[in-house]
Amino acid sequence: MAGKGSNDMLQRYKAAMVLSGAGDAIGYNGREWEFCFDGLQIHKELEEMGGLAKINVAEKTEGEKYKWLVSDDTVMHLATAEALCDNGDIEKTLRKIGDNYKECMKDMSGREPGPTSMNGAHMWNPHSETRQVISFNPRGGGCGAAMRAMCIGLRYPRVEDEGNLIAISIESGRMSHHHPTGYLGALASALFTAYSVRGKELKEWGHGLMEILPRALEYVKEAGHSVRENVEAWNERKSFGERWKNYLLYRKIFDGKSDPVFPANYGVKERDEFYRSVSYSGWGGASGHDAPLIAYDSILFAKDDWTELANRAFFHGGDSDSTAVMAACWFGALYGYKGVPESNYMGLEYQSRLERAGEILYNLSHPVSAAEPDSQLSQPEPMEQAAQDSESEPVKAPDSEPVKTPDSEPVKTPESEPVKTPDSLL
Ligand SMILES: [Mg+2]
Repeated sequence: MAGKGSNDMLQRYKAAMVLSGAGDAIGYNGREWEFCFDGLQIHKELEEMGGLAKINVAEKTEGEKYKWLVSDDTVMHLATAEALCDNGDIEKTLRKIGDNYKECMKDMSGREPGPTSMNGAHMWNPHSETRQVISFNPRGGGCGAAMRAMCIGLRYPRVEDEGNLIAISIESGRMSHHHPTGYLGALASALFTAYSVRGKELKEWGHGLMEILPRALEYVKEAGHSVRENVEAWNERKSFGERWKNYLLYRKIFDGKSDPVFPANYGVKERDEFYRSVSYSGWGGASGHDAPLIAYDSILFAKDDWTELANRAFFHGGDSDSTAVMAACWFGALYGYKGVPESNYMGLEYQSRLERAGEILYNLSHPVSAAEPDSQLSQPEPMEQAAQDSESEPVKAPDSEPVKTPDSEPVKTPESEPVKTPDSLL
């Protein structure tokens, strides 16, 4: 029988999945906030709603649609998670992930999927004899690979699992985003979830990422797909690794031991400026390097304060749902539902599917036969009673076709890019 510790860990797994969806839905706000470039405006609208605690994700519109619909991030995250739940070997898992990515494009109405993700799914051939790897894409540096990869860290949380975590995050990432900036975003997103499960100190995470990058490069070389192009992109100026290194130096946590240093004056406006400065082309969080970076910067400061986390990772002038989906997942894996208003996640679209995936991933990664199932993993912190499962929500029928990006404006440029920044802080 599961002890208290493992039961709490199970709740953390469920919370990781559910809160990631909640963060996505809130940061997205029916596309309004994903595509609002002014954090001050978002905070003003939030205040007019009565603040974060007043957001009720179960709210329906007149047509019985969710007002706080989950976006492409969560639909694709579920696609990854449900493939991992099948518990096949690596090849079977990757094939299932590819199949699920293709299938989930039928459920994108109103969710604003990115063009690179849609392309990858379109090109995937489920009947191919060998698993396909698409060509290297110099414009494949968007955040689409990262936003759907967190659950890989739930399946492979331990140090000895890191080989699998590297392989699955990179290969699932380059099913659409075959550029290091894109698929290393998936690695960071998965790795930080594993760190959350392990209870690794937040200030150590960036250092851990830097340490794992050479192993990831070795993997890419051994896998043998477009090696020359990948190595070149890996080494170019403003590469994923260089940008992360510069950020960690700037926050004074490159050594993984020191406490982070934040500016004394770091409000909504200043954060927007900082997020822009680390971005590829002015839209913070839209690329593979800066979506996990902004999410990390947020939780590094907020720790177990859900409201503070939301202020920093959900409500800003960048690609809000993609930074929210990651930060909220790590929060759930670290703290469960601690201090999270129920209205922010109870009755969320796909709540039951998310919880179920969390439960299966917990069971797969914590086999009962193991003598000390949680021996390497952290002792969970106390947390509030997890949510009761809600009535199972309507499993959404794809009402229409994959929908395209906003035609009216903010083109999600970085979704298609290699990195080229304005001369900026980093
Ligand atoms: Mg989205």
